[in-house]
Amino acid sequence: MFFQPVDRKRCASCHRWSGPRAPGDLPGTVAIESETIAGLCVGGPWDGQERRARSACGHWVVWLALTLVSTTGNP
Ligand code: SF4
Repeated sequence: MFFQPVDRKRCASCHRWSGPRAPGDLPGTVAIESETIAGLCVGGPWDGQERRARSACGHWVVWLALTLVSTTGNP
């Protein structure tokens, strides 16, 4: 398991990304199998195309699930 910092603003932590992931154990991280896994961009400039977890673009928006974790104080 790999924990990618959300502040890197990569596809893995973007709301528009559909790859396999979960909120990380540590605040401000997203858990992914590796940075080379891929998922579809949905509604962004790469709509319908596969993007790797470490990819990025200027239309990144934070994954809502990460926001919910941080506001509930989940340890
Ligand atoms: S390509 Fe951009 S909009 Fe699409 S998932 Fe990645 S960061 Fe988000």
